[in-house]
Amino acid sequence: MLRLLCPGKYYDSICEVDLAELKRRGIDGLIIDLDNTLVPRYERETPQRIRRWLQEAILQGFRICILSNNWTTRASKIANQLKLPLLAPAGKPRQGAFLRAIKLLDVSPEQTVVIGDQIFTDILGGNRLGLKTILVVPISPQEMLHTKFLRRLERLVLKKLRERNLLKE
Ligand SMILES: [Mg+2]
Repeated sequence: MLRLLCPGKYYDSICEVDLAELKRRGIDGLIIDLDNTLVPRYERETPQRIRRWLQEAILQGFRICILSNNWTTRASKIANQLKLPLLAPAGKPRQGAFLRAIKLLDVSPEQTVVIGDQIFTDILGGNRLGLKTILVVPISPQEMLHTKFLRRLERLVLKKLRERNLLKE
């Protein structure tokens, strides 16, 4: 079970994800979480540095879609602003939405990486399908109530992963 919760890599921010390295590893498709990965929860603006990272990714030819469990108009407005396709509500960690995302991007699972800030949705969902996964530290401490509960479990998982030297930071 711990293996399924283990991200391939762990970064402080999506901006630190090295696009050139992903290219070298044959990655073409990026499935990216919305809340607290691209935009602070409860805010509407994607921080400038993240917009720049996304622009660079698009320039380098990555195919990108946003996969969110959030189905509000706020989510679709943000996706529109970023000019990226949004699949929501995704029901992560269930597999269906990840499969739809791969199909939409027209990439193979081997060429795809999932980037998100939650172990029990983004990372578990990606790992179950054998996709590469990247965990990022949430942009904002603002969370929904059930997420706050999951964060406690996440801290335990991260501690265990660190103890076993499985976390690539
Ligand atoms: Mg999130």
